[in-house]
Parts: sequence; structure tokens; C-alpha cells
Amino acid sequence: HPGCSAVSDTIMAHCGLDPPGSSDPPASASPPSSWDYRCIQLHPANFLNLLFVEIRSHCVVQAGLKRLGSNSPPTLVCWLAPEQTAGKKKPFVYTQGQAVLNRAFFPCFDTPAVKYKYSALIEVPDGFTAVMSASTWEKRGPNKFFFQMCQPIPSYLIALAIGDLVSAEVGPRSRVWAEPCLIDAAKEEYNGVIEEFLATGEKLFGPYVWGRYDLLFMPPSFPFGGMENPCLTFVTPCLLAGDRSLADVIIHEISHSWFGNLVTNANWGEFWLNEGFTMYAQRRISTVLFGAAYTCLEAATGRALLRQHMDITGEENPLNKLRVKIEPGVDPDDTYNETPYEKGFCFVSYLAHLVGDQDQFDNFLKAYVHEFKFQSILADDFLDFYLEYFPELKKKRVDIIPGFEFDRWLNTPGWPPYLPDLSPGDSLMKPAEELAQLWAAEELDVKAIEAVAISPWKTYQLVYFLDKILQKSPLPPGNVKTLGETYPSISNARNAELRLRWGQIVLKNDHQEDFWKVKEFLHNQGKQKYTLPLYHAMMGGSEVAQTLAKETFASTASQLHSNVVNYVQQIVAPKGS
Ligand SMILES: [Zn+2]
Repeated sequence: HPGCSAVSDTIMAHCGLDPPGSSDPPASASPPSSWDYRCIQLHPANFLNLLFVEIRSHCVVQAGLKRLGSNSPPTLVCWLAPEQTAGKKKPFVYTQGQAVLNRAFFPCFDTPAVKYKYSALIEVPDGFTAVMSASTWEKRGPNKFFFQMCQPIPSYLIALAIGDLVSAEVGPRSRVWAEPCLIDAAKEEYNGVIEEFLATGEKLFGPYVWGRYDLLFMPPSFPFGGMENPCLTFVTPCLLAGDRSLADVIIHEISHSWFGNLVTNANWGEFWLNEGFTMYAQRRISTVLFGAAYTCLEAATGRALLRQHMDITGEENPLNKLRVKIEPGVDPDDTYNETPYEKGFCFVSYLAHLVGDQDQFDNFLKAYVHEFKFQSILADDFLDFYLEYFPELKKKRVDIIPGFEFDRWLNTPGWPPYLPDLSPGDSLMKPAEELAQLWAAEELDVKAIEAVAISPWKTYQLVYFLDKILQKSPLPPGNVKTLGETYPSISNARNAELRLRWGQIVLKNDHQEDFWKVKEFLHNQGKQKYTLPLYHAMMGGSEVAQTLAKETFASTASQLHSNVVNYVQQIVAPKGS
């Protein structure tokens, strides 16, 4: 490119992709199995705006990505300005491959059906560190980082982040990565915890094959909870609750080490093979570590989300099938919803229920992972294997039990025909429901309220209680104020799940005294799951709340991910209004 010679700082990347099926480590610089990338910083001010990729193989190919401003399509490589980071000093860049975005990052077979190993040499400007979803991380000179992924993975799991990053050890095979201002909190929250999750997963599902399990805490504008990039999960800094209370997200991402990353859906229409199994695996680990009552309570909140989703879209919506037909030209991300997660969880639970013995089903899952590791499969592969593994079930023709046919599970939209028993959660749900009832009374029964000690309640029990309060809101005048004063652990929580609920309650009850907490929360993070419901609540609230929404959006928009900006825009000032 003519601009190259004028460039002082460049990011250089060399990337070699093994052809599918090749077992040798990637050849180094020899074309045609490798490409050189040249990512050029034209001017410091444009660092976030312009990326040129020069690809050398037999011939030189040039590709350019340019972010044109807020009206441009969602950015495929996410460039963050300093104000979008926690430290607010240096820019940050990251990639998010899932589902089909990595084709804009490097040339690839961008389908989960194809797996390969890769290596990459990344050169960054002074003062930046690069990390990737790779087996090895190696510093080569002051500005170069070399990565090698020694196991075959699909293109969507190749991920890169560059920023002002430091790391700290938190276990024998784990470290946390974060901006310097977050690293102490990250270490504090996860020191010694991750290894227990990994070891429990290994006991249940077989060896952890990826070597390291590191965590990268993303800048606050990261719009997702977590992304299971192998060896290096990307997570929202919202997980830094200060009390180790949001570990379930990490357990979910760790579970992908077996389901999704090792055994992968061959196409995005069978996404439930990744997410339904991962929900099941997450809840198995959680049951072993935290008990059935707590896990059932968490599963009940998942079921409530599925109910909400089906109420909004209509049960008969074709998206509410486990096997979704994605027409050519449709972005798989546009089919994203709760069904593959929670209906998928119900189907796996149903298959466990048919077996009738948890140990036997756990052994089956281990065998399933072993059988299909490093492969990409369809639901039929899985179901055939299930019936072969349990010949007595095959003989009984469990695949065609009327009303529960496997075909119906996969190809009929609607509510799951079978729901796992969550009654062990009752012992935690009942007291939460009763307490919420007490707070909804015109005349507060202070004695009865004080008799309930909520200090031993863990996150999801408090979440369940607050969801009930929200359902009963607006409460009689004054009750929310007293509630906040009675439970400062809720009204002043640092835990993002609790802050979201408290904000929703404050807005639904127009408790203006605490509006500043909503504002503060929206200034501190930009996760979609928290941001959108609060804007909905503000715009559905009083005039003061609506003004708060507009002011907060005006002052935070520059920190948010461009997708989130577009969604909030629609809530605050819908087109055509
Ligand atoms: Zn997942």
C-alpha cells in the first residue's frame, strides 16, 4: 500500500494455518501454507479507525477494514478508544470470532465444520501486550509475541486482544490477564478458584486437553458475559463482584472446554450441541460444588428466561426449535436466543432421565467427549451414539415415545416436552418468596421481616428474591426506601446481577433517591445484558427517569460497543418517533 512507507508504528502479524487434517505443526514462513499480515497504524489518532491487512501467499492480496463511524455495520475487529477501557489511557483492540466474524480477520474456512491449528507472530507498538487463544504465549523481543495453538480448533475460536495488559498467576495452570488497574481485583477474585472448577470438570467429563486455562478481563465496554476462546476465556469485568459470587459464568466457559471447543456443532443451526450441553455440564459441576438446591435455583432463573423469550417471540416461532434452519445469506448471530441454551439443557436432561442413573449418564458424557473430540458433529451423530451406548434404550425405541420423539425435540418449535425436576431448589425459593410477600404489604410486619436472616443467601437466592420484589412493584410508598436501608448488602452491592435488579426496582418504584446508583452502574460497564433492561426501565418510568436515560446515554455512548449503542438508541429515541 502506498501509505506504508510513511508509517512509523505498525502491528505486524504472521499467521500460518494448517490445512484441515494436517497433523504436523504449522510450517513457519513458507508460502503457500502461511500468510503475512501487515496491520498499519497510519496516524495515532486513526489507530482505532483503520486496519490494513496485507496477505502474502502466492500473490499479494490486500484487504482493508475501516470503521466509518456509528452508522457503519458492526465492527468485526473491535477497536476501543482509551475512554472505552478501564484505565482510560491506552487504546485496546480485540476480535470476536463467533459466529462468522473471523472471515474479516484472516482468510479461513469460516465454518465450525473445519478445524485447524494455527500460529501467529504479532508485532505491537511500544507499551502494548498481545494475547491470543493459543497453547503457548512467548515474548520475542520488546514488541513481538509468538503464539501457537497445538490442537485443532474451528476458525471462530481464534481470538486476539492487544492492550495495556498485565497478568497474575491464580493456579497451577491458570493466570488472569487484565489492565493494570483491574489486575489486583482479578487476582483476588479468582486466586485458587479456577483449579477446583477444572478438576471437577475433568472428573466428570475427562481430561482437560488445552493445557492452560487463562482468563482475560476485557475492558468494561465488552458487550458479552464471556467468550470461551480456548486457553484464554474473554470475560466481562462485571465478574469482579468482590465476593467470588459470580463464578457460575466461569464454570459455564470452562464447560465449553469439553462441549463446544472439543466437540463442536458442525453448523450454527445445531448450536444447541454447544450450548445445551454446556448448560448441562455447568450445572453438573455446580451441583458437585455447590449442591442441588442452589443449582436448581440457578436453573429456575434460566427457565424463567426461556419462558420470557417464548412469550415475546411466540412458542411457534421457528427459532424455538433446537435444529434451526439458517437460510443462505442469514447471519447466524441473528438467530441467537435462549432456546439452544435452556431447551437444549432440557433435552440433555431428558436423555439423562431416560437413563435414570446419574453416574451412568456422566460416564456416557465422558465416552461421548472421547468419541467425538476434535471433531464437528450433527445432532444425529450424537443421538446415534447415545442409542448405541444404551442398547436397552434403543431396543425400547425411546426415540419414538409419543410426545417425546427425538425428531419432535429437534424439529418442532415450542416449550420443552420434558422439564427436569427443580424442586430441590424449593428450600431456597420458598423463603425468598415469603420474604418478598412481607415487603409487598401496606403495613410492614417488621418483626417477621427481621426474623429472616438473608446474610447467608448466595447470589441466585438474592436474585430470586429481588425478581419477586420487581414482579410485585411498585410496592406501597416508602417500602423500597426501607428495604434498601434494611439490606445495604443489596442496595450497595458491587455484584452486577444484584446492581441490575436493584436498579430495576428503584426505577419501577420511582425511588429517585437511588437513581444515582443506576447512573453509576451504567457508567462503569457496558454489558448488553445489564444495559438494555435498565434503559427499558428508565424509558418506561417517570419523566425524571426518562431524562436520566437521555443524559446517561449522551455521556456514556462513546464508551459503549457500537452494537449496544444502536440498541440503546432504539430504546431512547426510536426511529420514526
Ligand atoms: Zn456458552
